[in-house]
Amino acid sequence: MLVVMKRQATDEEVQQVVRAIEGAGYVARIIAGGERVAIGILQNLGPVDPTPFLHLPGVTEAIPVTKPYKLVSREFSPADTVIRVGEGAVGGDHFMLIAGPCAVESEEQALTIAREIQRSGAKFFRGGAYKPRTSPYSFQGLGEAGLKILARVRQETGLYIVTEALDHEICDLVEEYADIIQIGARNMQNFSLLRRAGRARKPILLKRGMAATIQELLMAAEYIMSEGNPQVILCERGVRTFADHSRNTLDLSAIPVVRKESPLPIIVDPSHGCGRRDQVIPMSRAAVAAGAQGLMVEVHHEPHKALSDGPQALFPAQFEELVRGILPFLTEAQQVELLSGPR
Ligand code: PEP
Ligand code: MN
Repeated sequence: MLVVMKRQATDEEVQQVVRAIEGAGYVARIIAGGERVAIGILQNLGPVDPTPFLHLPGVTEAIPVTKPYKLVSREFSPADTVIRVGEGAVGGDHFMLIAGPCAVESEEQALTIAREIQRSGAKFFRGGAYKPRTSPYSFQGLGEAGLKILARVRQETGLYIVTEALDHEICDLVEEYADIIQIGARNMQNFSLLRRAGRARKPILLKRGMAATIQELLMAAEYIMSEGNPQVILCERGVRTFADHSRNTLDLSAIPVVRKESPLPIIVDPSHGCGRRDQVIPMSRAAVAAGAQGLMVEVHHEPHKALSDGPQALFPAQFEELVRGILPFLTEAQQVELLSGPR
């Protein structure tokens, strides 16, 4: 249930509604809109009777929320969520380009790739220091040493850092180094990690699980938001299907569905979605044409030597080609934002 206030409602009237909601045993969440304030009623197990709230001063109407998710729904917050990171932003009319290797392998590797992707317009550098690998014998990431390399990349280039927190114990350390904390596909329903991310002071990049519906993705985002962190970026990264011509099946239909259901920004990871270098550029263009508000792309200067996901990594020159290829689908303001050189 959403209790919507009149445009001229005072702060005291808003507080009176909050007290009435809490007095009835629910949790109240104030949602500031452009024109009017609304107050969401959370943690109700069944339907809520709006009558006691409708008669309070300053209240104009009560709208039932029909979706299982609340804080992530457009019913709660109609306007697009804009998430800012330094001079970068995503959501609304802002496009976010994230690129870098699958894993941080060495300082030289990370810095080389960072300089390349920066030249092409990316303002966000990705690279895992903790890697979720199918085999325990595969490269697991450099751990804290990898985070220190990422700090150096930020210091040297000014790029913002996106890196994964594999579990809630490691999240404290990752939060110190990351500008955006990534939660990977395998962890989309790791509820203790989601709750921990909800207490973080950094934006969260939440990747769709490889067999998750859009509703499950949104419910995972709801976990984060319900703990108090409104800064969630959703990421479509492909789902498991019978198809074997690509690593996963990139589900671009997720984009219009998420944009209709939720104000949260949605970006696309064509690298894990396709798993093959030759598919990444066309699928990036398709994603942006379909309304993706950003891309996260794996790039490596020596993919044949990469310790993980080499076959899907673009060469730096291909990344530049990718950026040129998406420009026609961006607004003029987004093009300027993308091409406006290093900060
Ligand atoms: C990644 O982005 O590094 C990654 C492991 O992706 P996913 O969680 O989508 O498999
Ligand atoms: Mn990868």
